[in-house]
Amino acid sequence: MSQFINGKLVEGTTGETVDVKDPSNGQTIRTITLAGSDDVNAAVQAAKDAFPAWSRATPAERSAVLTKFAALMEERAEEFAQLESRQAGKPIRLTREFDVPGTIDNIAFFAGAARNLEGKATGEYSPDHTSSIRREAIGVIGSISPWNYPLQMAAWKILPAIAAGNTIVLKPAEITPLTSLLFAEVATEAGVPDGVINVLTGRGSTVGAELLRHPDVDMLSFTGSTVVGRTVLEAAATTAKRVHLELGGKAPFVVFDDADLEAAIHGAVAGSLINTGQDCTAATRAIVHSSLYEKFIEGVAGLYAKVKLGPTQDPATDLGPLVSRKHQETVAGMVERARAYARVIGGGVPDGDLASGSYYRPTLVADATPDSEIFRDEVFGPVLTVTPFETDDEAITLANDTPYGLAASAWTKDVYRALRATREIRAGAVWVNDHIPIISEMPHGGMKQSGFGKDMSTYSLDEYTVVKHVMFDLTGAQAKDWHRTIFTLNELNGKGQ
Ligand code: NAD
Repeated sequence: MSQFINGKLVEGTTGETVDVKDPSNGQTIRTITLAGSDDVNAAVQAAKDAFPAWSRATPAERSAVLTKFAALMEERAEEFAQLESRQAGKPIRLTREFDVPGTIDNIAFFAGAARNLEGKATGEYSPDHTSSIRREAIGVIGSISPWNYPLQMAAWKILPAIAAGNTIVLKPAEITPLTSLLFAEVATEAGVPDGVINVLTGRGSTVGAELLRHPDVDMLSFTGSTVVGRTVLEAAATTAKRVHLELGGKAPFVVFDDADLEAAIHGAVAGSLINTGQDCTAATRAIVHSSLYEKFIEGVAGLYAKVKLGPTQDPATDLGPLVSRKHQETVAGMVERARAYARVIGGGVPDGDLASGSYYRPTLVADATPDSEIFRDEVFGPVLTVTPFETDDEAITLANDTPYGLAASAWTKDVYRALRATREIRAGAVWVNDHIPIISEMPHGGMKQSGFGKDMSTYSLDEYTVVKHVMFDLTGAQAKDWHRTIFTLNELNGKGQ
């Protein structure tokens, strides 16, 4: 079954099918029938119908359901790890140790966060009134997610939305919908009421576009490329919907001359290759002080050569394939073009047993200048550029020299340099002497053209709630003092001027 609407798995109504393929061998895992207009309408209607009861459930009731959901996910962790590994081409070690435990922790976190909505104290900010704050759910959330972390992205979209009392229609990428469907199914088994979570498998250009413009969708929450993010903003304008955008990234990895070089080399390898580099926060641009430059290149290239590409089901595999043949061609094309203007070390499509999958070897692109395609545009593959700098000013300028601002890291033992980098690099997250770790309690989200709004953490609850001011008159007077702005007080009290 391809759709999850109103608590049930159903087929899409278009009759058009898409094969969900294992990118490590090209084999079809499941054929799904795509959603169309009727499915969009049915899912949005189900979410709309479920909203009144779910938004009025007490925080404790929503929390209890999420707590049970976390426990059920824990029981089915291996099933999720296997399915995520197969549909997205992730090494099983990654899904077992990162994607699935991270998702379970997120559910557990939002079970607690559901009971912790905050606001200003009720009080008499005017002597004649008592003011209080209500923090309310927004309504039906239309959400669209990408293929790189299908399960985690579904969790990041769904959990804060429903913890805050909203209902949701999620459209995952059509090439990786399977764990989002299973996620909704298990949530329902845990007690999330029918209609609260709906998942539509369909194309962005049809189902996605319709969801964005649906009059009964109150808010849009999108994770994906900056190009499509602009489309989301345009669509939101048609009905003035609230928008939350998590877009592309091109994270700098700045190595100052006092850095622990070995730590930086290891950090760059793991930070650039996680999820085969298909990570919006992945280290993509190493900016390295000239005194360490060649040693850094040598160290990273040495470790890249040792990385084991292999079958995703093998726990010894370090690096899986790219998500599709199409994406493999895009990555290979960018690297090939870079050969004309930079020093490319490694890279290429492996042959032999791996040829049936969309694998690509780790690639270092040294001497990439800031105006080059490989330095500026998202590659979204196992590719790290390296660019030298002389002064700290230059390093910070280079770090900020892209339209993106999602994540960055600074490598130094000097606390003043670290403080300067964390203050001056324009990104939603800056690590010091590390790159990649995320945690449920802390926000994730960008600056500049990486979007706006936060995922994870209690900050994400701000995105999915609206603050309402309620003001009570305290005087009981029929003619209130402030009415003198219209009439004089004597007129108001029937005494004339
Ligand atoms: P994408 O923008 O091509 O697609 C994302 C989603 O949008 C998919 O579900 C797709 O079907 C849908 N879509 C495409 N065109 C649409 C349209 N016209 N209307 C409505 N929906 C449409 O991105 P992708 O290739 O799936 O994912 C990779 C991108 O996602 C990268 O740019 C990456 O940086 C970004 N990303 C960002 C974050 C973050 O948190 N900032 C996290 C993960 C991925």
